[in-house]
Amino acid sequence: MKRSFAVFAALAALAAYAAAALAEPLPVTVSIAPQAYFAKRVGGDRIAVSVMVPAGADAHTFEPKPSQMAALQKARLYFAVGIDFEAAWLPRFAAASPGMAIVRTDEKIVKIAMVPHAHDHDADTPDAGHDHAADTPEVGHDHAADKAESGHGHGHGHEGLDPHVWLSPAQVKIQATAMRDALIIADPAGADAYRAGYDALAADLGALNAKLTGIFAQLPPERRKFMVFHPAWGYFARQYGLTQEAVEREGKEPGPGELAAVIDEAKKDGVRVIFVQPQFSTRNADVVAKAIGGAVVAVDPMAGDWLANMEKVAAAFQAAMK
Ligand code: ZN
Repeated sequence: MKRSFAVFAALAALAAYAAAALAEPLPVTVSIAPQAYFAKRVGGDRIAVSVMVPAGADAHTFEPKPSQMAALQKARLYFAVGIDFEAAWLPRFAAASPGMAIVRTDEKIVKIAMVPHAHDHDADTPDAGHDHAADTPEVGHDHAADKAESGHGHGHGHEGLDPHVWLSPAQVKIQATAMRDALIIADPAGADAYRAGYDALAADLGALNAKLTGIFAQLPPERRKFMVFHPAWGYFARQYGLTQEAVEREGKEPGPGELAAVIDEAKKDGVRVIFVQPQFSTRNADVVAKAIGGAVVAVDPMAGDWLANMEKVAAAFQAAMK
């Protein structure tokens, strides 16, 4: 409650700023490139958007440069998305840029758990009930124990919640709503423009969701698994009734035994494609792909041309599963 009030007070203070500087676009900073797409769709020409995490960087372990901290002093709004680096850096952003309101656009999103293990089956996955212990090389190993000892790797797993909320239309709609509402408070004169921008984006999100629902509805139950190096597609998978399996183990490169288990799982599930993203090494994905006689295909969860990219990714997933 206290923080909400503080955010509101900071946003209200911005209204005065916006009125005084109407000729200039409102300087807004976001954490990652997909958010810049959402913010521009909502804010249009009334805002100027900067992205904190540069292309190619790992958003989980990212550390802003001093020059970025200095540049942030010009920003009037910061749209946080809940990606790992923010936990350590948002307080520093607030201290360095007292005139900037930080808006947590993921605040109203109910987060899901990260996929703990590729071979750690939930009761509701299609192949639940297969005898796990008998068909993996690490017979008898205790999943609960090795989960507990796993480190944080590149940052996933604090609270065990999945931070990749920008990769499913329904979650994006919640973020865009938070952006719209914050922009209206910060720049009341633009309220109609922000509502119109949001409405157009929301319509596109609805159309995308309908299209992807149609695409994935055609897949039979036994062809609904896809394998990725880094498990960025948890919300996407949930939305379309798919199962995401990860090569990575809780944000870390798999050890040799774990890699063997991944390969085993991939073979059993008839996986033919390992999806990788440009921000991470493809070394382990290459090993798995070679072992199963499959292919490595790049899909980018961080692309700035969000809408077109989502269609591209969906087509790649569909091609790999059908
Ligand atoms: Zn990630």
